[in-house]
Amino acid sequence: MITISDVHKKFGLNEVLRGIDLEIAAGEVCCVLGPSGSGKSTLLRCVNHLEKINAGRITVDGQLIGYKQRGDRLYEMREKEIAAQRRDIGMVFQRFNLFPHLTALDNIMEGPYQVLGRSRSECKTRALELLTRVGLGDRGGAYPSQLSGGQQQRVAIARALAMEPKVMLFDEPTSALDPELVGEVLDVMRDLAASGMTMMVVTHEIGFAREVGDSLVFMDGGVIVEAGNPREVLANPQHERTKAFLSKVL
Ligand code: ATP
Ligand code: MG
Repeated sequence: MITISDVHKKFGLNEVLRGIDLEIAAGEVCCVLGPSGSGKSTLLRCVNHLEKINAGRITVDGQLIGYKQRGDRLYEMREKEIAAQRRDIGMVFQRFNLFPHLTALDNIMEGPYQVLGRSRSECKTRALELLTRVGLGDRGGAYPSQLSGGQQQRVAIARALAMEPKVMLFDEPTSALDPELVGEVLDVMRDLAASGMTMMVVTHEIGFAREVGDSLVFMDGGVIVEAGNPREVLANPQHERTKAFLSKVL
């Protein structure tokens, strides 16, 4: 479902992704671990073309992201075409990024109504279903400022799902939360994984990676140092850098 082949990304002279290869099959959850600055967020942002890659290719559901191929050459897509691709790729960030002036329900309805052109009543029904799914069926009228961080993040997940994405990308979705609120967000992600969603999750939640992940990738210095079955990698890391990192977070 997501294929990343020999992806390189530079910021100026600083090459922060140095040949990333990664494949995530439909319905699989891939957890990405690694120290600060290793390139995790950059890699995630490349998948929906928020960052342009300098070399390599990324496909989602068989579609080349951000570029069109004619003959041997790649041409960058127009902004409109990129926006169309991004609709299939849900993204949830560390910070909740809800529209502060809209209620939870309106936050979720906005995309399907404005972008997908659905009727308001259809959007509302669906938004209520999604709110219920994330355990907030009775909080649709609340504004973000009236919700806890964990609740806001669950609304953010519901909002991403309202666009009916083919894959979901998560960038440390729980690391800005108070510890007691982390579990409720991970539970929603666990349900989502069980429902068959393809997910790429940057996280420091080792327990989640172990229990929910189908694969685990450890990045450092812009390369994948080690990858494999999460239980195996976590129990028996092969690389010194993985060992050193895990000894700090476990
Ligand atoms: P963290 O765990 O702190 O979130 P990360 O693994 O997500 O770290 P990235 O945010 O991907 O790391 O950053 C990788 C490298 O790229 C860092 O050296 C960072 O300074 C650099 N970088 C990221 N975004 C930009 C940018 N827009 N312009 C210049 N350099 C950037
Ligand atoms: Mg990051």
